Amino acid sequence: MARIVMKFGGTSVADLDRIRNVAARVKAQLDAGDEVAVVVSAMAGTTNQLVDWCQKLSSLFDAREYDAVVATGEQVTAGLVAIALQNLGVDARSWMGWQIAVETDGQHGKARIDAIESEELLSRMGQGQTPVVAGFQGIGPDNRITTLGRGGSDTSAVALAAALGADRCDIYTDVDGVYTTDPRIVPQARKLARITYEEMLELASVGAKVLQTRSVELAMKERVRVQVRSSFSDAPGTMVVDEDEVVEQEIVAGIAYSRDEAKITVRRVPDRPGIAAAIFVPLAEAHINVDMIVQNVAEDGTTDMTFTVGKADFARANAVLEQARERIGFVEITTDQNVAKLSVVGVGMRSHAGVAGTMFHTLAERGINIQVISTSEIKVSVLVAAEYTELAVRALHTAYDLDA
Ligand code: ADP
Ligand code: ASP
Ligand code: MG
Repeated sequence: MARIVMKFGGTSVADLDRIRNVAARVKAQLDAGDEVAVVVSAMAGTTNQLVDWCQKLSSLFDAREYDAVVATGEQVTAGLVAIALQNLGVDARSWMGWQIAVETDGQHGKARIDAIESEELLSRMGQGQTPVVAGFQGIGPDNRITTLGRGGSDTSAVALAAALGADRCDIYTDVDGVYTTDPRIVPQARKLARITYEEMLELASVGAKVLQTRSVELAMKERVRVQVRSSFSDAPGTMVVDEDEVVEQEIVAGIAYSRDEAKITVRRVPDRPGIAAAIFVPLAEAHINVDMIVQNVAEDGTTDMTFTVGKADFARANAVLEQARERIGFVEITTDQNVAKLSVVGVGMRSHAGVAGTMFHTLAERGINIQVISTSEIKVSVLVAAEYTELAVRALHTAYDLDA
């Protein structure tokens, strides 16, 4: 007997037939003799609709009320999946984040899980009950509902697996594993039987939304065995594993893209010590993550600072910079939301030169201009005009010999 967390994403619970399908899969796992805790997302499209309503009312909405709204999608599916399971004779019960409780910090809209009280769930599972947990949500120190950031049900599932001491966390989604790149835009993408935690972490953090970044971070830290697989087929999925479990390591594991970035350039700031702090400390204080950064060469004692933030933080970032205008002393701000970040990831980069060169050369051949570059030990990212995203990802996939 194994203890397994089964997490189902939005497309897997998109309508009642799919919810019945989820219930049947859970029942089959139980019939095999395993103990199961289920984690569910909102029905496909629901969270987008809820976010859109908040944004339409106010671009600088109160994050606590945003959480009160967007957490509702998962409540619906937890209840529906529990009913579908009961129809199959399974003793199932839904659980909201606050009922468990999934305790988080107070960062509304992108809260982190601090602890999960697992005793009650474990005791009920011991008595044969199957919990169906609403993913994406928790409860903050202010006793209000929090959410974990987009895609956060993955993190709910991994955190629950860690808290329950589960043998495995299966992430059921609409693709049958982790591919060398998004199979929806590159049909030649190859499914990976295994991927290292580190590569998955890097791929997720640069836009491969198949797993939320924090879920991988947590799996790595808590040693949770994660498998990504399809809720529509029985094909074997992808296991996320330690580096020493991968036999043949490719130099490049995968390519990711993100259209979620917005570029901000603070023009003609004084070129003096402390200027980066003057710009980035207020942004950090507003909990805005800054991603890529370049500072241009100085001319006549001033310089330009270009950086990217997530599109969701774009309006707030501009507001924060305007407020700090005098302290920073900039002349103007220019922005571009029509950009995409392309990233090449692989642990093999540590020992092989030339990965960045191949990327730049491939993009140059297609006449694609690179606006910003950033690198880490196992990743190279570039910012380009959004219209080139698909062309560029396909070209890079071929250039690194990843095509199936
Ligand atoms: P869910 O609703 O099940 O959480 P998501 O939409 O969050 O599903 O994540 C699955 C999607 O991730 C796939 O449909 C696919 O388009 C996208 N994706 C991006 N990069 C990859 C990749 N490297 N491998 C697999 N899927 C990827
Ligand atoms: N429903 C949430 C979202 O769309 C959480 C998730 O699906 O993981 O972001
Ligand atoms: Mg997801």
